Amino acid sequence: MISTQQEGNSLLKDLERIKKKTRISNKIINNQLDQIIAQIEEAKISNDYSQLKDKLQVLYLLRKNYKPLTKIKQTNNECYAYISKMGKNMDKLYKKNLQYGQEHVELNQTILTKLIKNHLLRDGEFEAYEILVKESGSEESQYHQFFAEVQNIVDDLKQRKLDSAIKWAEQREKKSTNNLFYELLKQRVIQLVQTEGINAAIYFMRNNSSFQEQSQGRLYEICLITYSLLLWPNIENTKYYYLYDDEKNWPRILKLFLEVASKSQNIMIKSEIRTVFSAGCLAMPKLIKYNQITRNRSSEVLVNDIPIDIEIGKEYKYHSFFVCPVSKEVTTSDNPPVLLKCGHVISKLSAHKMIANKSKLKCPTCPIETKGADLPELIFI
Ligand SMILES: [Zn+2]
Repeated sequence: MISTQQEGNSLLKDLERIKKKTRISNKIINNQLDQIIAQIEEAKISNDYSQLKDKLQVLYLLRKNYKPLTKIKQTNNECYAYISKMGKNMDKLYKKNLQYGQEHVELNQTILTKLIKNHLLRDGEFEAYEILVKESGSEESQYHQFFAEVQNIVDDLKQRKLDSAIKWAEQREKKSTNNLFYELLKQRVIQLVQTEGINAAIYFMRNNSSFQEQSQGRLYEICLITYSLLLWPNIENTKYYYLYDDEKNWPRILKLFLEVASKSQNIMIKSEIRTVFSAGCLAMPKLIKYNQITRNRSSEVLVNDIPIDIEIGKEYKYHSFFVCPVSKEVTTSDNPPVLLKCGHVISKLSAHKMIANKSKLKCPTCPIETKGADLPELIFI
């Protein structure tokens, strides 16, 4: 069996070949196109259409038996042959493995369509979203309008325009403790310094009621901005430079906006389907291995719970979890953590086992005893 590294290298080679072929093909196609354009231009200038006769014949020639066009078609086909070869190579390397990984997994079409729709909206692919809604006959996403609005603001922020984001934050975040509204107004001040000069920035700081309001309790930061004005524009090697570091500040503001916007709708900042996909890619090699080992043992069919731990990194952990100090197992909805009188926590099953026929249960951590009946369940979020 070839290793993952060898698989990767073989695909990389395919990609390199495609890249090289595409580059050569593009050159050939562009040459042919230039020839066609030159011929038409020539006929136009000399007003001599005898060779190409009239427009209709040009089109006809372009369609059939026209050498440059035949050459373009041929080049394109050669190029696609390389792409198709890579596809076949991927099938050869992974199809069998993927089949192992997919056994016993049934995808819920409704949830999948919903996830794809939200993914498209999140990526600003509104046209593709509309087509999917139409073709799947499913309902409009509740987030359609939200993502449309977010996309406009994201586009503006990428072009370093603050108005739409400030308006959005003003409507939603005025009373919130969140920093977004203040950060946007602060960036407006910085932008005014950079574009219209110090006086415009000072005027804004003095007269903008929202800025005045948001500055409350942020005296130190306002002082830093004001000090920086004294040094402007010789700011580069001073400790105030971070305020004017556009390369860092604009992406930071964009990220903050996306975080606050996602939170306002109680949705994830990243695409769910992309997250699931990348988590799946990381977990798949272990899942395949597990499935290959256990596939012939009918008692160990892979359903919802997998009896092995698959570590895929902290960034994929979205929930707190609790490991029972007695059984050393992670608690689940069937076996939730329960609170003892002393404040220590163990799993429900462990508590039941420890109580058995007795009326009291001694905490495994401290000497305090808890009466057995109705231990309160804890929910971790
Ligand atoms: Zn205790």
